[in-house]
Parts: sequence; C-alpha cells; structure tokens
Amino acid sequence: TEARPVSGGRRVVAVVNQKGGVGKTTTAINLGTALAAVGRKVLLVDLDPQGNASTGLGVAVRDRAVSSYDMLVNDVGIERVATPTKVPNLWVAAGSVELSGVDIELVDAPDRALRLRKALNAAESLDFDHVLIDCPPALNLLTVNAMTAADAVLVPLQCEFFALEGLSQLLKTIERVKASLNPHLTIEGIVLTMFDKRNNLSAQVGEDVRATLGHLVYETMIPRNVRLSEAPSHALPALVYDHACAGSQAYLQLAGEMLRRSKPAVAA
Ligand code: ADP
Ligand code: MG
Repeated sequence: TEARPVSGGRRVVAVVNQKGGVGKTTTAINLGTALAAVGRKVLLVDLDPQGNASTGLGVAVRDRAVSSYDMLVNDVGIERVATPTKVPNLWVAAGSVELSGVDIELVDAPDRALRLRKALNAAESLDFDHVLIDCPPALNLLTVNAMTAADAVLVPLQCEFFALEGLSQLLKTIERVKASLNPHLTIEGIVLTMFDKRNNLSAQVGEDVRATLGHLVYETMIPRNVRLSEAPSHALPALVYDHACAGSQAYLQLAGEMLRRSKPAVAA
C-alpha cells in the first residue's frame, strides 16, 4: 500500500462501512488511541450524527458548542472545533445531531463533497500526523466528504454471515469517488471485527474474506471482547479503560500493522 500524505506527513483515513454496528466507532476510537499512545498526534473527526465516538471519548453533548457540522456547513475552522481528550495526543472534532441535515443543507452547494477536505487542508498548521474519520452507517454525502478528504479507506468487517453483503456497493462507491473527486484514494485495509475463535461461522467468514480480498485484509483480527463494548459507557477508550484486555491489545497490534504497511519499503 503506497502512502500518499495529503500534506506534510499527515495521513487521513476514513473508517467506512454503510452497515451499522460493525465496529467503525470502536475502531476509530481505539486505533486513534493506539496511534496516540505511540506518540502520533491524532485527530478523530466524528461525522456520525449519533456522535458515539465523541461520547466514547468523554466529550459530553453539552460540551459540543461547535462540532464537525460547523466545520462542514459554517466554515468554522478545525482549530476551534478540535477538542483535546483525556488521552494525550488525541483530539476529537465532535459529532452532532445536526449532521443529519447536511445532505439537504448542502444540496445546492457546488463544493458540497469537498467541504471536509477544504476544512482539513485549511488546518495544515495544526500538525496532526493522523486524521481518522468515523463515518455514519450510510453511503451519503457525509461519507463521500470523508472519502474525498481521505488518503485511504479503512473498512471494518464484522465476522458474521452477511459480512460481505454490501461490500461490493462500498467498493463501487470508492471507485466512483476516485473517478470524480479523489483520484489518489486507496483502500487502507479491511479489518475483521468481533471475531470469535470458538465460533465456526466466524472462522469461516474470516477465511472467505481472506480468500476473496486477501491482500487487503489485515492479519490482526479484533476479537469479540466485552471490555471493548463496556468502555464507552465509562467515556474512555478501551485502551485506557482496560489496557490489558484482548480487544485493547488487538487494536495496538492493528496500529502497528497499519504503520508498518504505510511505511514506504526501503530497498535493502
Ligand atoms: P459502528 O460504529 O460500525 O456502528 P460500533 O463500533 O459502535 O459500530 O459497535 C457496535 C456495538 O458493538 C457497540 O455497542 C460496540 O461497543 C460493540 N462492539 C464493537 N466492537 C466490538 C468487539 N470487538 N467486541 C465486542 N463488542 C464490540
Ligand atoms: Mg459508529
């Protein structure tokens, strides 16, 4: 996978799957925390009207005076929207229910698909190493904005029977965005989530996905782990709530694999 930083060394990754409940937000939070833990400066942009990533990182609704919505619609700069979290090096541009109106509010704006890219490029001086965009469960204008602003798309895929259903539509959308809006867009990778090694179906799905899309699938699989699902109710990333649990360790491993993959190969 070729790394093509948008500007400086910054890498923008959109976490996308139009299905809900597949682990996008959990991945955005914990991958972001893992990257921050190894000293990278990380911005998580919460583009989901549900704002789960923001809540999970301890940014309460009352503390979201400005949000990613204002960045997209009202030209409010990231330097005003980005809020520090309890995790050193990790910032969040909070989500807001108002995001659910963006499709309609920007319907007549000629640059409606470019709003997030413009906002991120205007903030180059902020010096983030990684921007992770947590997308809503839809292939809508918000997700298109994320893909247009991104260097690459990261797809969490839940290890269940219908895992691959919808993936071809997602891949088509990526191709469409590449053709018309962002020719440099690549697929960062596919990460299998909620893997249960005692469950035959889960293992079978994992094998099927690797057989079909092998080169794109991360070796790291995120296990089904109750600590990952408990952490948001404590307003903490799992990596802070319980650093040692299997889920946290898997996200650390995923971050390592991602950093190794995006490092340009050096000739021996
Ligand atoms: P999405 O953002 O794609 O809708 P979430 O990350 O919010 O998905 O995950 C959906 C639900 O599943 C949440 O309640 C979350 O806490 C839980 N969850 C996510 N990943 C795991 C996992 N690996 N093990 C157990 N529960 C998980
Ligand atoms: Mg989510």
